[in-house]
Parts: sequence; C-alpha cells; structure tokens
Amino acid sequence: MMKSILDSIFILALLIFSTSHILSCRESNKAEKFKDDTSTERSKAGQIYHLTEVEGMEHLDEIKQSVLTPEDWRTRANAIQSHILKATDLDPLPDKCPLNPIYGAIRKYDGYRVQNVAFESLPGVYVTGSLYSPLKPTKKPAGILSPHGHWPNRENYGRYRPDVQNRCASMARMGAVVFSYDMVGYGQLAEFGWVHESPQTMKLQIWNSIRSVDFLISIGVDPKRIASTGASGGGTQTFHLAAVDSRISVSVPVVMVSYRHFGGCICELGMGIQEDGVFKYNNAEIAACLAPNPLLLVSVGTDATEYTPQVEFPFEQYIYGLFGKAEMVENAHFPDEQHGYESSKRAAVYPFLAKHLNLDLSMVMNTDGTLKEDGIVIEEIEALYPFDQQHPFPKEGISANKDVVWDWKSNL
Ligand SMILES: [Zn+2]
Repeated sequence: MMKSILDSIFILALLIFSTSHILSCRESNKAEKFKDDTSTERSKAGQIYHLTEVEGMEHLDEIKQSVLTPEDWRTRANAIQSHILKATDLDPLPDKCPLNPIYGAIRKYDGYRVQNVAFESLPGVYVTGSLYSPLKPTKKPAGILSPHGHWPNRENYGRYRPDVQNRCASMARMGAVVFSYDMVGYGQLAEFGWVHESPQTMKLQIWNSIRSVDFLISIGVDPKRIASTGASGGGTQTFHLAAVDSRISVSVPVVMVSYRHFGGCICELGMGIQEDGVFKYNNAEIAACLAPNPLLLVSVGTDATEYTPQVEFPFEQYIYGLFGKAEMVENAHFPDEQHGYESSKRAAVYPFLAKHLNLDLSMVMNTDGTLKEDGIVIEEIEALYPFDQQHPFPKEGISANKDVVWDWKSNL
C-alpha cells in the first residue's frame, strides 16, 4: 500500500517537472521562432512554419485537454476575441461614423450586376470595393464579404483577379449580395498614396471588415445570413473577422488555416495576435471561434494547409463536437492543387454556401458538379474603381496611412 502511494507521488512529481520543463523550453523557443525567420522550416510553397510539428501538435492537444465542454470553448473563444482586439488596439472599438456611401454606375450582366462603391470606415478613411448583386434580389438577401489575399502584381492583382470576379459574380447569381473590397493600400487608394505595409494595417483591415458588415446590413441584407470567404490573406481576414464579429454566421477561409503557419505579412503577424512574447493562439483555434456556426476549410497539399485533413480539420471537429455539431465544419482538400481560389475550390465552396445561406446552387452548378460560369464578365482593373469624374474622391478624403484619426470624436 505504502509503496503504491510512494510510486504515485513519484510519478506525479515527475509529470509536473517534465510538463513545466517542456512548457518553459517550448515557450521560449516559440518566442524566438517568431523573431528568427532564417532558422524556420517551410511549406512546399515556401511559407514559414512558425512552430515545429511537435510544438503545434502539443498545443492542439493542450487545448483539447483543457476544453471539455461547450462552455470551456466559449470561455477560450472569448479570451481569443479579447486578445485579438487588445493586440490590435481595437479595445474599445472606435466610434462608428456614418458610412456615407458613394455609388458608381450599375453594369448589368448575365444574371448579376456590379456597382462600385466607397464608404467611410472612419471620417475620411474610405473602404473601396464593388458590390455584386442578383438582378432581382429578394427582400432580405444573404450577404457575403469577399476579402482578397496578397497578390500585389498588376497583372494578377488583389480583388481584380479573375478568380475573385468569378466567385463574386457566381455568388450574386446564387442570390447573395456580395461585397468585394480592397485590402489597405490596394486598388485605387494605392494610386492616391496609401500603402499596404504600415504598422497599423492589421488594425485597419479588421476595422474595415467590421464596417463592411455594417455596410451590408445598411443596404438591407439579412443580418442573420452573413458570410465571409477569401483565399490566402483573404482567408486570414475571414477568420480574423469571424473571431471578433459575431454577425458573421458562415466562414470559408481558403488555403490559410494552419496550426503551424500564421501568415507572412505585417497584416497577419504585425500586431501580436498569435504571440505576445510567448506563443498564445494558432490560426486553427482562431478559425474555430465562430463554432458552432458553419465553417468550411479549403486546403491544398502544396502549401501550409497540407496537414488539414489529418490535423486542423479533426481539431475543428473536436471543438464543434462539443456542441453536438461536428457536421457544421467541413474540409475540402485538394492534394495536388496550388495556393489560390481556382474553379475546383469554388465548386467546393458554392454548395456549402448554398446549404447554409439558403442560396440557389442551380444557378452556378450543373447537376454533374461542374461550374456554370459562362457569361461572367471579367472587368478591367480601372472599371472596378469607385472614384471617377462623376464620383470624385472627396476633398476630406485621407490619402495616406499616417493621417488616419481613430479617436475622431474627440476632434469634433
Ligand atoms: Zn498584408
């Protein structure tokens, strides 16, 4: 009897020592890895792995061991949300100014229409984009935000890429009102002086996304049916927004949710969302913050989402399973495809959106699963700009990142 008690005490002491030793070593290693890009393992697409496989798996296991009920997850999701808002200096959220939208001319195409729009997310700070709508919208249509990723070259640029225009037009044909908007420092505002790489880009992008939800609601979309979907950096924006704004009810981040890679840009890593000296949260758990609302992870075998079927997807299923809603998270994995939002990925996304937003899938897909994208017009970059001679950039418009005033009410 005494021997078994002594054995138990010895084993317990060993466990406590080894766990604390592993944790302290790992935390210091993780903090170092965020600062030292050169020593880090990379995905086949060249993306940095910020954690080793062992570190990443141990972190997911720790979450599973400490999150055993829906309430446990809500507590952790609230902590993640609070951390993101604090880290990005959005706690408290800024005051909301009137959106004051500026609308361009409507172009009508086969089954959808496009209208450029700009609105103020803060006084003088314009969010620029294009609104894709059905030709005959229902009274309260579903709304979809379409943030884009880092494709900075003019010939293959941001929201102007054919894959973005194709999906926005298709989602409008399905019955949704879709807002496709520029990242900070992209599109027409780049020509006025805005840049992407700025210390507060992450803060402004999250804020612009929150205000884009306000914009969709202001034009009459159903506030209970709002989704976001984008690829790469657009995937990052999708799960950042879904984590901090409960109005997002469906989330489809494409080729971006990884337990080991957290992005490569200042708008993904620049304000300490995943770490603040020590590693805190990975993107798989940030993406799960909207549980048990519908989440589709689209992944490929050639970038940092290569492990999704074996790692991130089962992790999300575990979290959703706590709510008895494991079926609300899905994974579409393409082992041989590249980082992007090409037609095969769109063919996986549309049925998911149709199912959860009550959209008409028959408008965009044949019964054999092939896409119906005939008649979609890929517009030139300038055709999607909101400001022109009839709709000039307002005199009070801000044309440089440094001139943004967050606490604008105190200046009144
Ligand atoms: Zn960026």
